[in-house]
Amino acid sequence: MEIDELPGVGEKVAEKLKEAGFDSLEAIAAASISELKDLGLGEASVSKIIKAAKDGIKNAPQMGFETGLDALKKRELIGKITTGSDELNKLLGGGVETQAITELYGQFGSGKTQLAHQLSVNVQMPEDEGGLGRSALYIDTENTFRPERIQDMAKYLKLDPVEVLKNIHVARAYNSDHQTLLAEKAGELAEEYNVGLVVVDSLMSHFRAEYTGRGTLADRQQKINKHMHLLQRNLADRHNISIIVTNQVMSRPDVFFADPTAPVGGHIVGHTSTFRVYLRKSKGDKRVAKLVDSPSLPEGECVFEVTTGGIKDAKGKD
Ligand code: ATP
Ligand code: MG
Repeated sequence: MEIDELPGVGEKVAEKLKEAGFDSLEAIAAASISELKDLGLGEASVSKIIKAAKDGIKNAPQMGFETGLDALKKRELIGKITTGSDELNKLLGGGVETQAITELYGQFGSGKTQLAHQLSVNVQMPEDEGGLGRSALYIDTENTFRPERIQDMAKYLKLDPVEVLKNIHVARAYNSDHQTLLAEKAGELAEEYNVGLVVVDSLMSHFRAEYTGRGTLADRQQKINKHMHLLQRNLADRHNISIIVTNQVMSRPDVFFADPTAPVGGHIVGHTSTFRVYLRKSKGDKRVAKLVDSPSLPEGECVFEVTTGGIKDAKGKD
């Protein structure tokens, strides 16, 4: 059964659903009534659509199960993007993976944006040099994308800076709804631009600014959760893309014993990203990266450097 075969779902509504990330019967069956009502559909028809999607899944021969072999075949397509530092690559099991969300979190100046810039360059390199030979989409919420930095990094790698800039598609997100909309749009552009990397820098700044106060917290978490699932399903899984989200860590002077390294999004972000990398400043240009709760890699730390030419292994020891 296809989405446009659901009762009351014509071509137009199917398109609307897909754009909002409800691109399979499973996604629709798991949606809440209010989520679909947000798309401008009436309550009665929403209930009918969800019920029919559930029935459709139940009647499908495999009901969403795939064999372990199918799962393995999909995992064999995973690509890895070099970070520019061998040590950091090793920590990540070879580089930043496709089909996954990697969350970079840490305090201001810890190197999140620098690393996101570097990956936007490196994804373009050929596979035998640690890239994917694909382009980057960059959703910039803090106005910190700097083409000049991209030029520096490209020159260091002896790449043509103009070509490299042409293969990075940047969009400024003005608020959290716009940010979500851009992520949906990214799904449409993925094939056309041959996208291998999508950056959201930073994930939380708009959400944090817009949803303040206790009463709105649940609402905020729900929206972020939806945004993250969209990134995973519509981009990472469907187009074999690597997703980088950055997240600033705030120290909380009001909570004396609180963990100063707790990321802003709290648990929701942590549980929907596949890899979580905590970055912190060390001496000089050095940065320390720590891998936190990865599904199949040991936790560990490494040191790297942010230089004019980009992300590198640290010269000398700490
Ligand atoms: P925020 O949370 O504020 O967004 P961030 O983690 O994104 O912070 P970055 O912008 O990635 O931080 O890091 C900024 C740091 O990167 C600078 O403080 C500097 O140490 C280093 N840096 C930036 N540009 C250069 C450069 N051209 N050469 C060397 N180091 C640089
Ligand atoms: Mg930044």
